[in-house]
Amino acid sequence: MNGVHFVLGSPNAYIHEPGILNRAGEWIGQYGKSIFIVTGHKSWESCGDRLTTSLEREGLVYEVQTYKGECSYEEVNRLRELVPAGTELICGVGGGKVLDTAKALANSYNKPFVAIPTLAATCAAIANLSIMYTEDGVYIDFPVYIRGTLLCLVDTEVIAKAPVRYLGAGIADTLAKWIEAPMSATGKKRNLPTVGGLQAAKLCYDTLIEHSAQAMQDASRSIPSEALQYVIDANLLFSGMVAGLGEDSCRSAGAHAIHNGLTVIPETHLILHGEKVAYGILVQLALEKRPQSYIDEILAFYQAVGLPYRLEQIGIHRELSQPEWEEVVRISLLPSSTMGNMSFSVTSGMVLEAFRQVEQWSSTAKK
Ligand SMILES: [Zn+2]
Repeated sequence: MNGVHFVLGSPNAYIHEPGILNRAGEWIGQYGKSIFIVTGHKSWESCGDRLTTSLEREGLVYEVQTYKGECSYEEVNRLRELVPAGTELICGVGGGKVLDTAKALANSYNKPFVAIPTLAATCAAIANLSIMYTEDGVYIDFPVYIRGTLLCLVDTEVIAKAPVRYLGAGIADTLAKWIEAPMSATGKKRNLPTVGGLQAAKLCYDTLIEHSAQAMQDASRSIPSEALQYVIDANLLFSGMVAGLGEDSCRSAGAHAIHNGLTVIPETHLILHGEKVAYGILVQLALEKRPQSYIDEILAFYQAVGLPYRLEQIGIHRELSQPEWEEVVRISLLPSSTMGNMSFSVTSGMVLEAFRQVEQWSSTAKK
């Protein structure tokens, strides 16, 4: 469905509240009575009891399946076979890959999608697309859906208790919007929704610069504070509105293309999506040749929030071989990656040089 032009791809309802999962059944029950839930082990541990208690209280029928760890076409097909006849809603409970898997399933099954994010790590709860990987975790593409999220329930208490590393990853993934969307919009017609998408990206950026350090501190003590709420809403809702409004004019660009390239290095598979994007942002800034004063500001922000800015912080503790570098660059520059959204053409030599530049900044960054 890529290339479809939405005026607004958005959730039908987004509700944030500490403890909202205790009333999840009341909300979900207004949309359907029979629910197929896709979740992950840890996500389910964090909130499964609360959710099912509420569903049962409202007399809803549900079936729970655990996904196998990657949002792949194979996994979506496997889950499809398990959806009981008569299912009215497909619900994802978890982080970005769980939600993307459930969303892909909902769209292939032609049923509405309910998102219950347990982490504020990506905009997957809201974005009307899924990022697809091979079963080994290598990026493939992102199908765009005609159907947005029907209902998104955000329990701030659940997210406050999640490991803080995921929040950091979400901050980087959302920060990237204001780095990438203006690139993607370059040279395209700027209608009002596109301008709105760009402003959502800027709002995310400003909100994160202001509140992230505090939110990370609060989350590390599991406090559902106001700063944390700002960051959650930036990461989950407003980040999704960037492409929700701007569509193909506000897509990813260099930072996510570099993320895609990095997925070919097996060591990075334990590194979160947003953490690889954090590094990708720096590579994009190097490609753009941004002034040193801006780089210093960004690196200071990375350090305050605890985001990775060297290869060793994203799991790469060894020298990569020449063929490995070539593969990283090749995947980064594939047409299905998003480097083509940069405002200038990018060559493999430029990508390699940008990686070198980032490692050089990192080596001289204040500790
Ligand atoms: Zn992302």
